[in-house]
Amino acid sequence: MRHGNLFVVSGPSGTGKGTLIARLLEEVPDAWLSVSATTRRPRPGEEEGVSYYFLTKEEFLSLAEEGGFLEWAEYSGNCYGTPRASVEREMAAGRQVILEIEVQGALQVREKMPEAHLVFIEPPSLEELERRLRGRGTETDDVVDMRMRTALVELSQKMEYDYRLVNDDLDEATRQLVAYVNEIAEQQ
Ligand code: 5GP
Repeated sequence: MRHGNLFVVSGPSGTGKGTLIARLLEEVPDAWLSVSATTRRPRPGEEEGVSYYFLTKEEFLSLAEEGGFLEWAEYSGNCYGTPRASVEREMAAGRQVILEIEVQGALQVREKMPEAHLVFIEPPSLEELERRLRGRGTETDDVVDMRMRTALVELSQKMEYDYRLVNDDLDEATRQLVAYVNEIAEQQ
């Protein structure tokens, strides 16, 4: 059995993080994706306990106060947090634990767990990012504009990460991400 490691994956909304991580989970059998809690409303097709744990703001803040989150942050007007207990359980079981979280949360994890490996997924360009976000069709124009502004702030922090990869070609980006995770898992 390999030792447990913690990987934090960030990148602007629309960079294809979700798809890349889904591919990683298929290719790395001991990888495990943490399910976050959020106060955002579910999008069509999202399932409670699978996509997120959907909480009210009150529920979220009381869990935060009890120390139930490894990290949490506000993003585009909603709160998002990583449940602490399940991450600790899966790491102890020797899994490659993946957190798909935004930059402020990633930096909190770095403070608390300096051994975490931080991966930043970049879009090929800002134009391509905007095209992907509008093409998704699940957000209003205002939300897309807000996410583009947030993307610029996030991209300005990419040098804080240990490993950066550009998601231009999905197969190539998957190959790079899988290789990075396996390399670290094998080092232990
Ligand atoms: P979305 O609303 O598009 O699902 O997610 C918005 C952003 O919140 C994404 O960048 C996603 O990675 C981030 N996010 C999801 N879960 C968490 C979490 O538990 N903590 C933090 N800090 N960010 C999260």
